[in-house]
Amino acid sequence: MKVIGTFGGKLKKIVQRIVWYQCEVCKTRHPSKKEALRCEKKPVEEKIFSLGDTVQLNRFVYCHNLQHPSQKFRAVGRIVRVRKPEPADEDYENRYLGGKRERKQSHVLSFEIKYKCPFCKKEKDALCLTPEMELVKKNKKNR
Ligand SMILES: [Zn+2]
Ligand SMILES: [Zn+2]
Repeated sequence: MKVIGTFGGKLKKIVQRIVWYQCEVCKTRHPSKKEALRCEKKPVEEKIFSLGDTVQLNRFVYCHNLQHPSQKFRAVGRIVRVRKPEPADEDYENRYLGGKRERKQSHVLSFEIKYKCPFCKKEKDALCLTPEMELVKKNKKNR
């Protein structure tokens, strides 16, 4: 509901109903049925990492502790959460992940990682996509 102004001392209210269509895979709301159906048809990428797996990041992260300025390293950590599938971010895929067509046309998974910085020993978080990680050790429960 949006109040747009006053007219002769009386408020004029305009109530607008908006209909959204939701993709059942990623729960994203779309303004048209066609777009929602197109989203729903996108496959979900193959899940090759699972909760509890130990992984190493393909990209460098930096220690921001002032005693170790700009120390970069490839973090090793554990997957603490697997997020629900989301439509691939085309811009990010093009910029950092080589813009693979099959990924751009899929729902992709993201993984919350916890790792310990080897310099300041603090625990940190990272959010990674599948191509940004390498498996170090599979969680035994997932075998
Ligand atoms: Zn979707
Ligand atoms: Zn650090």
